[in-house]
Amino acid sequence: MPELNNKVALVTGGTGGIGSAICQRLAAAGARIATTYRNAEKAEAWAAEQPYEPLLIACDVGNYEECVRLKETLEAQLGGCDILVNNAGITRDATFKKITPEKWQQVINADLDSVFNVSHQFVAGMTDRGWGRVINIASINGQKGCFGQTNYCAAKAGMHGFTMALAQEVARKGVTVNTVSPGYIATEMVMAVREEVREQIVAQIPVGRLGRPEEIAGLVAFLASDDAGFITGANLAANGGQHMH
Ligand code: NDP
Repeated sequence: MPELNNKVALVTGGTGGIGSAICQRLAAAGARIATTYRNAEKAEAWAAEQPYEPLLIACDVGNYEECVRLKETLEAQLGGCDILVNNAGITRDATFKKITPEKWQQVINADLDSVFNVSHQFVAGMTDRGWGRVINIASINGQKGCFGQTNYCAAKAGMHGFTMALAQEVARKGVTVNTVSPGYIATEMVMAVREEVREQIVAQIPVGRLGRPEEIAGLVAFLASDDAGFITGANLAANGGQHMH
C-alpha cells in the first residue's frame, strides 16, 4: 500500500516548477492533492496535464481571509489537511539602496505572511487528529544571504524561525514541522537566466549541476512519511553542497 494512502496534502503554489514535482510525488505515494492557484486558466491547463486529479482552490496565500475560505473549501471537499507544504513564493530582487517598500512588502507577504496565514487554518486539525506534517519550502539564500535579496532572504530565514517555534508547540501531538532549503533548481525561473550567468552559478555548486525539482519532491515526500516522525524543527538543505552549515 502506498505510504501516504488516505492522506490529504495541500501544496501552495503547486502549479509552479517545484510545486508540480511535489504534488506529483505525493500523489504517487497515494495522497489526495489540493493546490492553490491565482490564475484559473493557467491552473486548469496545468491540472489537465497531471496524471492524477488535483483539487484546485483559488487563493492568494498572502491574504488571511482568502486562506479562511481555502480551509472551508478544502474541508468541504476533502475533509481536512494532513500534510501542508508551504511552497508558494516570489522574488522581487533589488539592491538595498534601490529596494522600494512595495517590493519589501510583496515578498514578506507572499513568502512569510503566507506561512502564518495558511498554517493557522490547518495545524489545529492536525493536532486534534494526532498526526500532521508542515513542510516549509525556504531557500539556500535564507541560510547564507544573497546580494540584492534582503527581502527574500529575510522572508526565507523567517520561515525557519517559524518552523522551529511551531515544531516545539506541536511535537507532542504527532505533528512535525520542518524547513526544506533548496539550492538552485532547474525550474523555468532559473533556466530563463542568461546561460553565462547560469554557468557561473553552476561553477559554485560542488556537484556540478543544478538540482532537479524531483529531488526536492523526494525529500518532501520523505518528511511527509511516518519514517520521518522523529525529524522536527530541522532545516534540510538540498543544494548540491553549495552551502554547508
Ligand atoms: P514558481 O514561480 O515556478 O512557482 C511559485 C508558485 O507560487 C506559483 O504557482 C505561484 O502562483 C505561487 N504563488 C506565488 N505567490 C502566491 C500567492 N500570493 N498566492 C498563491 N500562490 C502564489 O517557483 P518555484 O517552483 O521555482 O519555487 C517554489 C518555491 O521554492 C518558492 O517558495 C521559491 O522561493 C523556492 N525556491 C526555489 C528555488 C529555485 O531554484 N527554483 C530555489 C530555492 C527556493 P502564480 O502562478 O499564480 O504566480
